[in-house]
Amino acid sequence: MQFNGIELVDGDIIKKENGKLIVPNNPIIGCIEGDGIGVDITPAMKLVVDKSVEKAYLGKKKISWYPLFAGENAFKKFNTYLPEDTVNAIKHIRVAIKGPLTTPVGGGFRSINVMLRQVLDLYACIRPVRYYNGIPSPVRHPEKMNVVIFRENTEDVYAGIEWKADSKEANQIIEYFKNNFNVDIREKSALGIKPVSQFGSERLIKMAIEYAIENNRKSVTLMHKGNIQKFTEGAFKQWGYELAKKEFSKYTIAEDEIGQQSVENKVIINDRIADNMFQQILTRTDEYDIIATTNLNGDYFSDACAAQSGGLGMAPGANIGENEAVFEATHGTAPKYASLDKANPSSLILSAKMMLDHLNWQEAATMLEQGLERTIADKTTTYDLARQMEGAKELSCSKFAEAIVNNL
Ligand code: NAP
Repeated sequence: MQFNGIELVDGDIIKKENGKLIVPNNPIIGCIEGDGIGVDITPAMKLVVDKSVEKAYLGKKKISWYPLFAGENAFKKFNTYLPEDTVNAIKHIRVAIKGPLTTPVGGGFRSINVMLRQVLDLYACIRPVRYYNGIPSPVRHPEKMNVVIFRENTEDVYAGIEWKADSKEANQIIEYFKNNFNVDIREKSALGIKPVSQFGSERLIKMAIEYAIENNRKSVTLMHKGNIQKFTEGAFKQWGYELAKKEFSKYTIAEDEIGQQSVENKVIINDRIADNMFQQILTRTDEYDIIATTNLNGDYFSDACAAQSGGLGMAPGANIGENEAVFEATHGTAPKYASLDKANPSSLILSAKMMLDHLNWQEAATMLEQGLERTIADKTTTYDLARQMEGAKELSCSKFAEAIVNNL
């Protein structure tokens, strides 16, 4: 079998049976190198992952990397930024990791990242944010941050349903609303639609609650803007509480039920309004644990949390659907550093750690994370962190990866 003209030869396919991944010892994992600094950080990530797996399993397990085309290299070869074969390959092999991709400006292109999430229905964007010792941070107690954000990835204003101001469609909708609902929208307005469904909200919140239960976390906070957007954001919150009660009553307790029944060993379900949440995470950082939220809130909030604990260069991410999972660095292509062997590969390396967790290869995941932690604690880092750390030694991207390998 082949995709984009490349045979799937080495390695075995990851399967799924009864909702569980069956991971062979030599799984095929798709890899999108990415644009810009992708050429630097992706080989660095692969080196650290390969060495962690080799060391953790004494050579009994090994990843077989399968190249996937997307972004500029796909455009050069196939005249499209996201070939259908790349999507089909991910559907077939189930797990992939990607470097950052340029969003072509103009010409009506939508983000390739958003397209990938939508065509594969990768409905949960998961972003763990924690502090690594020694990382420069703008706050006094960055070590208090240890959250995992579950952001709904397919709905909300990100669904891409919008019309230009004064377009035929926008004007027709304005007219329709006036005639049918007695709703006045200012003439020549641009319009966007914010769909939030019970199905989409529940499957995301379910994943967050299951994660909290499996990982002995203390709470799941439903972050929303339901005080203003009652039927979208407000419904997200309501569906979340109802789902917890209906499907997880043995393991969860709503915040307003505390005192009426025992909290022992139960995950607390609470909710916070989005604007409040932004100040709470600064003033009461360690009170928050797992956060489930709608798409736009999640986008803003995960970058704010990452900034608080050391910046985007350290923030990993995963996009998970029913059948496929794509792990990705959360920063962009940083074009001015492309091919300079300078950029920080940590975000992609930590995304690979999430991937190893997803494969249930915890030994390699832990080894990788500890190797990275030791390297930073030694004050040997790439330029972005070195410039903010007193007495740090600046390493190139590839030398930083080698230093992590030496610290495994
Ligand atoms: P960016 O690529 O994230 O870079 C902005 C700045 O962040 C860089 O100039 C650099 O700051 C710092 N930075 C980012 N990644 C770094 C790393 N690994 N190591 C060290 N420093 C890093 O954001 P952008 O310039 O707004 O976006 C560029 C392109 O990336 C756009 O086409 C955008 O659409 C795309 N993008 C893709 C993704 C994705 O694929 N998931 C996400 C966001 C943006 P200093 O210069 O201060 O050192």
